[in-house]
Amino acid sequence: MMMGIKSLTQWGFGWTGRPIVFAGPCSAESPEQVLETAQKLKNTGVHAIRAGIWKPRTRPGSFQGMGDEALQWVVDAGKEVGLPVLVEVASPRHVESALKAGINMLWLGARTTVNPFLVQELADALLGVDIPVLVKNPVNPDLELWQGAIERILKTGNSRVAAIHRGFSSYENSTYRNKPNWEIPIELRRSMPYLPMLCDPSHICGNTFMLNYVSQFALDLQYEGLIIESHCDPKNALSDAAQQLTPEALGDLLKSLVVRKPTSDNVFELSRLEDLRDQIDEVDNEIVNLMARRMEIARKIGIYKYKNEVTILQPERWDEIIKSRTQNGIGKELTPDFMLKLYSIIHEESIFQQTQQMSKISKADEHKLNEFES
Ligand code: PEP
Ligand code: MN
Repeated sequence: MMMGIKSLTQWGFGWTGRPIVFAGPCSAESPEQVLETAQKLKNTGVHAIRAGIWKPRTRPGSFQGMGDEALQWVVDAGKEVGLPVLVEVASPRHVESALKAGINMLWLGARTTVNPFLVQELADALLGVDIPVLVKNPVNPDLELWQGAIERILKTGNSRVAAIHRGFSSYENSTYRNKPNWEIPIELRRSMPYLPMLCDPSHICGNTFMLNYVSQFALDLQYEGLIIESHCDPKNALSDAAQQLTPEALGDLLKSLVVRKPTSDNVFELSRLEDLRDQIDEVDNEIVNLMARRMEIARKIGIYKYKNEVTILQPERWDEIIKSRTQNGIGKELTPDFMLKLYSIIHEESIFQQTQQMSKISKADEHKLNEFES
């Protein structure tokens, strides 16, 4: 313990080792669903059961959680399987109800951490209350906002506080539901070295197939724990269906994780790798946009060729493309073989798009040609 912050293994639940795993459904939906999920999760060796009671959904009309009555289902399931339970709280009223019901741990969601007024109200409601509180990162990639929320909770005198990294929303297309921006939790770790850190790969990925990669990555960055969504019947989940795993699949995931010894330099090596992969993602995005533009132009050429009755394939033009592009690539460490293969498939697709366009026009009335040109 340092500066009044306890590690997860000192939280008094008898946990040992790494990672400490919290799992459970995105939302508590019925007493049966909570209990069945908890029982199956107990067999996978998880350390605590999570469940959402009040759901902060982005759009009205989507499932908002079952509300207060579900608190008892979660408490009962936890007692039945002998594991502590945790729920999200987003208002002082939630804190009061959760404490009254006997919930063991609380977490602040990403849409709460973003609002210092609300975090302060929650901190006031938690003053002197001895219950572990986990603070998710804010939805936007703002380290100070995250630190500020953690500080507000620490100031209540609580020594069992932890951070949950669940990724950050962004407007650009990304393979992630919420981009991890690993440099932010790494910086949080640097500024608060004794604060336990958990990764929530479910909300980072938004799917189940990347969970393993993100969880392993978090372990390799020395996170102490994971909080993963798991549902006994994911396909029919009322919220976040795409990212929930069956307890059995979660068990397999946990077994496949490699717990490596912490060494300080691989933290930075790994973040560098992630940074490079992010750059690759951006370049790939540009490539797709450029291809789309190139094909749009090809379709216009198709219209021109139709109108002027010229053939699609023009060998001299093709020969010139191959020569000039290969030459251009040589100066940029791209081999002639690669350039030939690359341009062969681009050219093939271009011819395909032109042919398609020409057959569409010939099926339409001649006077509609303008529509194709616009
Ligand atoms: C959740 O954990 O189900 C949740 C709503 O998470 P977040 O606050 O990370 O969006
Ligand atoms: Mn969720």
